[in-house]
Order: sequence, then structure tokens, then C-alpha cells
Amino acid sequence: MTAEWIDGVAIGEAIKAEVARDVEILRERGIVPGLTAVLVGEHPASKIYVRNKVKASHQLGIRSEQRELDASVTSSGLLRVVDELNQRDDVDGILVQLPLPGHVDAKAILRAVSPDKDVDGFHPLNVGRLCIGAEGLRPCTPVGILEMLRRSGVPLQGTRAVVVGRSDIVGKPLALLLLHQHATVTICHSRTRNLPQVCREADLLVAAMGKPGMITSDYVRPGAVVVDVGINRVSEAERVADYFGDDPARMEDFQKKGYALVGDVHPRSVKRVASRMTPVPGGVGPLTIAMLMSNTVRAAKLRRGLQV
Ligand code: NDP
Repeated sequence: MTAEWIDGVAIGEAIKAEVARDVEILRERGIVPGLTAVLVGEHPASKIYVRNKVKASHQLGIRSEQRELDASVTSSGLLRVVDELNQRDDVDGILVQLPLPGHVDAKAILRAVSPDKDVDGFHPLNVGRLCIGAEGLRPCTPVGILEMLRRSGVPLQGTRAVVVGRSDIVGKPLALLLLHQHATVTICHSRTRNLPQVCREADLLVAAMGKPGMITSDYVRPGAVVVDVGINRVSEAERVADYFGDDPARMEDFQKKGYALVGDVHPRSVKRVASRMTPVPGGVGPLTIAMLMSNTVRAAKLRRGLQV
């Protein structure tokens, strides 16, 4: 068996086209949705993420801006910026790019973002709403995965889903969303015993650990659907050949760049047993950005009491 790839780029583009139509309708009513990304310090990956988010916003007609603050900013300095953005009527979504420098109280900052503008869905109020299945803003990566599964026709009701990783950003909220879709959900983490055996029970296996290529065919029941959330940079030629040795295009790309992006799933090993799986890059990543755009428009509508 060779797994079929789930095309996250195409699904992300379809969602963005729908968001652009929504933005157009709002603009006709004189409403321009606005997103502000707050970037602290010089974290290179964060800069790229924020740049991509701002670029995607512009493409869809969302007014977006980037606030760059020095790495030395204090918690109270950052709180003042968040407060100012909370007050501004032209800002519908506030996104504080993580990670924040160690001296900043990240939890306090995320709590300070108005829940109505919390397009990352990290505020405790939105976490609580997710938990009880009430209307609210949901974290982008998990809700993107759900949307991808729905649009790919992957059934969830009554199935066994195993999520490896229990972070507040990915694993935990995704498990809750799958539960609301009536999957029977198991959450695994670094202390889970017999992890391969637990994973092999899954109809749907989600890997979100940040461990390159860890999930091999030993973890996958034949015919399972596998979603790979991890994004890891690998530059050792031997490891890259192990992951992508059967894929000349990927090997050529590695020769050019000197590194390869790999998920938490071992692609060469798992594609022999899974029925469908998501690639890295081009799987979950594009959905995260598409759902951020969608959340911004959703926030703009919710704040004005419009139907979402
Ligand atoms: P965290 O580091 O916050 O969480 C990792 C989780 O994986 C923890 O719960 C940890 O367990 C668990 N874990 C770590 N090692 C193992 C192991 N050997 N066996 C079982 N479980 C393990 O990561 P995030 O959730 O923030 O991100 C996970 C991955 O997803 C990263 O590669 C990240 O880059 C990527 N990511 C991708 C996004 C996208 O848009 N595609 C968006 C967000 C993240 P414990 O709790 O016990 O420590």
C-alpha cells in the first residue's frame, strides 16, 4: 500500500478564497477586518511566520500590521501595547507571536488579549468555551486540522483517534475538537507507556511532538489516516536520505538548501502502511495560516454581532 497525500496547500487555498469572499461582503458594508501581529525580539523563525501571516492577510483584503518590539521590552511594556490594541476599533484580531523572551510573563500577556480579539484562541475564556463546545475563537492549528479532515471526507464519528502531544496549542485543543466530533480520543505524551502499541489502535493518528521522523510504520495500523503536525529542520545527509531517499525531488531540494523540513512522522516508512497522510511541508502548515485569516474575519463579525 502507498498512502495518498492529503493536499494541505489546496485545502488552505480553498479556505482562503472563501475568507476573501467574506472580506468582500464585509467591505461592502464598510467593515474592513484588521489583524495586528506583535513580534518581540529577533527570533528568525518567528519573523518568517509573522511575515507570512501579514502577507496572507494583505492578499485576502484584511488590513494587517506588524508591531515589532525590542527583546528587552518588559511585561508591563508589552501589556500596554496589548491594551492599546484591545481599545482600537480598527483591530479585530491580535496575535502575539510565541515564543516570548524568558523574562516576559507569557501567560499574563495571553490573558490580557481581549477574548473577542484572541484570534489564536489561547485566552482562558476561549479555552473554556472550546472545552464545553460553546461559540468562541478556536486555536488555528487544531481547527485547521479538523477542517482538513472534514474537507477530505475522513470520518470521525465513532472512530479511534490517538493524538501524540498534549501542548495547549496543538495536542490538547485538537483532542477536544475530535471529541466533539464523537471520536474516541486518546492523548499520549512523553510518559505514555507502550506508545507504539497505543498508536496502533488508531484509525486517525496525529503526531505533534516536535520529534523528527519519530512515528515509523511500527506505530501505524495498516489503513490508518496519519496527520503530521511537526515541523523540524534536519541537516544531516544520512537522516535526510533515510526519510526521503525514495523521493528524488526532495533529495535534490536538500542538496540545494543544505537542510530539509521533516515532520514527526517518518515519511518513507509510514507511507507504506497508512491509507492517507499529510506531507511536511504542505500539510498542516498552510491550514494554520488559512484558519488565522478565517478567525480574524470571524472575530470581526462576532464583535459586531453579525452572523458567523
Ligand atoms: P510542545 O513542545 O509544546 O509539545 C510537545 C508534546 O509532545 C508534549 O506534550 C510532549 O510530552 C510530547 N512529546 C515529546 N516527546 C515525546 C515522545 N518522545 N513521545 C511522546 N510524546 C512526546 O510542542 P507543540 O505542540 O507546540 O508543537 C509540536 C510540533 O508541531 C512542533 O514540531 C511544532 O514545530 C509543530 N507545530 C506546527 C504547526 C503547524 O502549523 N504545522 C503549529 C504549531 C506547532 P510532555 O507533555 O510529556 O512533555
